[in-house]
Amino acid sequence: MVGLFRRLVNYCRKKSPWILHFNSGGCNGCSIELLSCISPRNDVERFGVLAKGSPRHADILVVDGPVTKKMRKRLINIYQQMPEPKIVVAIGSCPISGGIYQKCYNIAGPLDKIMPVDVYVPGCPPRPEAIIQGLLKAIEKMETLKE
Ligand code: SF4
Repeated sequence: MVGLFRRLVNYCRKKSPWILHFNSGGCNGCSIELLSCISPRNDVERFGVLAKGSPRHADILVVDGPVTKKMRKRLINIYQQMPEPKIVVAIGSCPISGGIYQKCYNIAGPLDKIMPVDVYVPGCPPRPEAIIQGLLKAIEKMETLKE
């Protein structure tokens, strides 16, 4: 019975993944593009993706920004609060390589030094279409995760 319930929960998560957005210290350019994705113009909700405010409800963590030393601990706390199985998407050059903040004194990133990253969306900032494609890849990856 528990196995059946777990399978049902995982099926629902794949059909309507909830995302949590975290800006780890960037210029906000990527955040604006992500906001455009969840607005009616690009409407990522048509794929079932819904933005949430709590890590305890989120399936996908979307991170932009280079991960400053100040934000590192908060980001790890948020990641640890998310239920398994979870997916991490890095949006923009900053979390991927440090971008324009590379080698700055206050940078703890890139993101994959801090936590496992499943999908990378390059660009500075990436266009909404690229972000949506990254989210669809994340959903595809969720389907391959263990139930
Ligand atoms: S990748 Fe570019 S647009 Fe995005 S947060 Fe970094 S500097 Fe800003």
